[in-house]
Amino acid sequence: MSNSHYTGLINKYRERLPVSDSTRVISLNEGNTPMIELKNLPAQLGWKQQIFCKFEGLNPTGSFKDRGMTMAVTKAVEAGAKAIICASTGNTSAAAAAYAARAGIKSFVLIPDGKIALGKLSQAMMHGATVIQIRGNFDDGMRLVQELSSSMPLNLVNSINPYRLQGQKTISFEVIEALGDAPDYHVMPVGNAGNISAHWIGYSEAAGKPCGSCNLCDGTCAYPGSKLSTKRPKLVGYQASGAAPFLRESMVDQPETVATAIRIGHPVSWDLAWAAQKESGGWFEECSDDEILSAQKLLAKCEGIFCEPASAITIAGLCKDIAEGRFKENSKIVCTLTGHGLKDPDTAIAQSDAPVLVNAERDEIGAIISQHL
Ligand SMILES: *Cc1c(COP(=O)(O)O)cnc(C)c1O
Repeated sequence: MSNSHYTGLINKYRERLPVSDSTRVISLNEGNTPMIELKNLPAQLGWKQQIFCKFEGLNPTGSFKDRGMTMAVTKAVEAGAKAIICASTGNTSAAAAAYAARAGIKSFVLIPDGKIALGKLSQAMMHGATVIQIRGNFDDGMRLVQELSSSMPLNLVNSINPYRLQGQKTISFEVIEALGDAPDYHVMPVGNAGNISAHWIGYSEAAGKPCGSCNLCDGTCAYPGSKLSTKRPKLVGYQASGAAPFLRESMVDQPETVATAIRIGHPVSWDLAWAAQKESGGWFEECSDDEILSAQKLLAKCEGIFCEPASAITIAGLCKDIAEGRFKENSKIVCTLTGHGLKDPDTAIAQSDAPVLVNAERDEIGAIISQHL
């Protein structure tokens, strides 16, 4: 019997990625995440579009960051690095710590003091990263890791590292494979803006089009491969109202939102993300924290999909933009659900009813069940 199990996105898309036959691949079999078509929500809300969620929360560390990290750490190890560093709102540090552990190298992660979801913190700690909490926010951390990595033997694995986007672009290939062609729209949360840029690189390569969003190849695609799709989708980026530099069209100094993964005011991939939005003919929109939390609950209750608040902003945005008629009827929309709901149990529990406490007696329990049947 042949051993043909899935072994991660680098092996799968090797000819479209900057690796050679002798590259030692550092992988946790990331990617290959499920596309789940929404059934109940569109019926309930009267939506005429076909909506698919690409559930990136089912990657090995629970977010899409694994796609970029397998590439970044593989290339760091290939270059002889013994240590990696990143700034993080949580998920990048979880992925960096896990892939560094897999590679047998050290990891250092800078996280904001407080405002980090506990699931993410626990991952970085368990995987043996040196976790450094700074009295500052993500943007402060981002500035500091750039300074530190230029003067110490540390490989920077934030999405300013072009290999991160190369790994992350593979989501577009998987979507095309699942649908047979590119969708009409692809919507996602925008924080540091690496992911929207990576989606555009992937869709452009797949359609055989050069794009202005690739920071590896200067607009002339380095890894064209064969064509996978006939078109590219419009990309729609959602930002939290308190952390919405793309809506304000300028950097935001004190970003605030319950969606900590996108609590970023100075996105590193600013130019790439604007290019992705403009070239694709898409748009940016914002949602309030209340809209984000309601959408998170709605998706969990109506469809059985539990994503973290930053990911749920896509559902909040769809509610708003479909009502406004911004998406064509009968079109296909893909929604990147960037991270798993279990990453941030505190936020989930805080907005839910506490469990009822009763005596361990049949009748008391039976009465409660009768109330809810
Ligand atoms: C990192 C992250 C984002 C934002 O992605 P960017 O590439 O920074 O725009 C959104 N959601 C989750 C869950 C994340 O971890």
